[in-house]
Amino acid sequence: MDIITRAEWGARAPRSRSTTSWSARREFVVHYSEGPTDQSVKSIQNFHMDSRGWSDIGYNFLVDNKGRIYEGRGWLVIGAHATGHNTSGIGVCFIGRDGDATDAAKKAIRWLYDEGRSKAGHPLSKNGHGQLSGNSTNCPGKQLLSWVKAGMPAPGGGDPTPPGPPKWPGRYITQPPIMRGDDVRTWQAQMKKIGKSIDVDGAYGPKSEAVCRAFQKERKLSVDGIIGPDTWAAAWNGRR
Ligand SMILES: [Zn+2]
Repeated sequence: MDIITRAEWGARAPRSRSTTSWSARREFVVHYSEGPTDQSVKSIQNFHMDSRGWSDIGYNFLVDNKGRIYEGRGWLVIGAHATGHNTSGIGVCFIGRDGDATDAAKKAIRWLYDEGRSKAGHPLSKNGHGQLSGNSTNCPGKQLLSWVKAGMPAPGGGDPTPPGPPKWPGRYITQPPIMRGDDVRTWQAQMKKIGKSIDVDGAYGPKSEAVCRAFQKERKLSVDGIIGPDTWAAAWNGRR
């Protein structure tokens, strides 16, 4: 899917912006605008900047009922959409009222979730705005809330349950996406045997993740930055 960029929808420049990191991103938050489905993203931005006095449109992304995705603040700019959850949460707003969300819109929201999860390299919790602690609101409406609670299944197929962390029973994953230091050091040794000079943390940190991502890409595995059974098997096969 394509994201309609700020330049494409004619966004005003933000008054200021601050960014967070993928490791801090832990939550995915669904909202609705509670307005007409044909409301323009620009008018939402004007409302947030001029009436609310915010630095920019509050959401990270917006989705309309035709399934079009609009860039709000983007992936890593801290939004203004959920009190206490703007650094940890990626906020996506459906443009419309309760009951207006189409399959196309749900598909687009789910696609954003999958993109975010893959970029983060770790699971993101799925939340309706009102489910978050400290946020008492009807947002995103009954229809989207029950869809979020059902795991945001992609309409017309797809896996209703998100892929969890790799299962390697009892040995490698203690708590997603944390990995015991020894396992990463074993991985480092394994990679050395196939002639790859890698600089890993000895803990599941950014360096280990980067190495893992590069290796998964090279072996055409699903890239999640997590050392799981497939990654391990690919390294083992390459050794021989
Ligand atoms: Zn909301």
